Amino acid sequence: MKKRLLTLLSAAVLCGMVSGCCISHDWQEATCTAPKTCAKCGETEGEPLAHTWVDATCTEAKHCSVCGTTEGEPLPHTWVDATYETPKTCSVCGATEGEPKQSYFAQYGVDVPDGPVDCTVDYIYYNKEDPETYCRVGDAVFTQTDCYADPADEEGYQNVHLTLTMAMQPGYYYDAAEGVNYTSATFVNYMYDWYTGRKLPTRDMRGDDAQEYAVTLDIDGVSYEVSYSKEVSWEQGEWVFDEAGNATSSDTATQEFIFRIPEGYDGLVYCAYPKREYTELDTETVTGLDEAEYADLDPTDEETEEDKKIIEDQRFFRINHTEIPVREAETGTEDAAGNETAE
Ligand SMILES: [Zn+2]
Ligand SMILES: [Zn+2]
Repeated sequence: MKKRLLTLLSAAVLCGMVSGCCISHDWQEATCTAPKTCAKCGETEGEPLAHTWVDATCTEAKHCSVCGTTEGEPLPHTWVDATYETPKTCSVCGATEGEPKQSYFAQYGVDVPDGPVDCTVDYIYYNKEDPETYCRVGDAVFTQTDCYADPADEEGYQNVHLTLTMAMQPGYYYDAAEGVNYTSATFVNYMYDWYTGRKLPTRDMRGDDAQEYAVTLDIDGVSYEVSYSKEVSWEQGEWVFDEAGNATSSDTATQEFIFRIPEGYDGLVYCAYPKREYTELDTETVTGLDEAEYADLDPTDEETEEDKKIIEDQRFFRINHTEIPVREAETGTEDAAGNETAE
């Protein structure tokens, strides 16, 4: 021990004489930024340690976990396209860019409030023999009277039941001065998909009538099979006569829809469409079935002022955007004797 101390001392003395440096170095361990270094005189020995590299990610460049030195750039993000719900998003780090995709209706700046359907839109009533001459415009009051869901037969699907009334006053009218009977009333409605604006297939209906169609909607690369049935029934009100001899009676149409939709699909849009001119009904031609048709939302596409006004006066409502009440379907049960009773 004594001998070693002596040796150190003499080395220190020697060192002091020759280099003018400190008597004993105060060595600091090497790091990745500096070699082993004397804290007193700055003398170094050997090389810095290697950096402890961490691979680049999309948020950080390749970097040393000890000293933070970086090399190169961060990796590019792994972008997933924007959907109607979420903006463009990196699947690795969750970074987002921009806004979610706009629905067809939002692109045109058309407001589609959530139901219930509640609006007043033009309809026509006319004389069947000469509708070009004797046709008048009135107010049809659209009122949603029921909306509920129940599970469909097939797993992953549900039925949405929607009932509305369209009250037309008058539905029938006798104009005493003209001596003319107005015996028919026509209103117009459509169903659309909120995301793509696609029209659900439909045809003109006359009197008490029913129809049933299916369509595949392609939304964000996912196919949604949507089918629906629609039943219309009419009910005439009491005749009311005035002093001039005119006679008026109301006519109320009831529409009952059953939509069969995949769970998670919330894009049903009801459209009350203004009707101001007589056109002949065509109960044969189905529109929007073989060829996709979309809601007309751009008034500048229309040539006449009347047509522009019709585009602007359409009223839209989202039927199943917000949660709708679930009700058990009405089921028949068999009693012991085998008779069926409806619950
Ligand atoms: Zn380092
Ligand atoms: Zn990322």
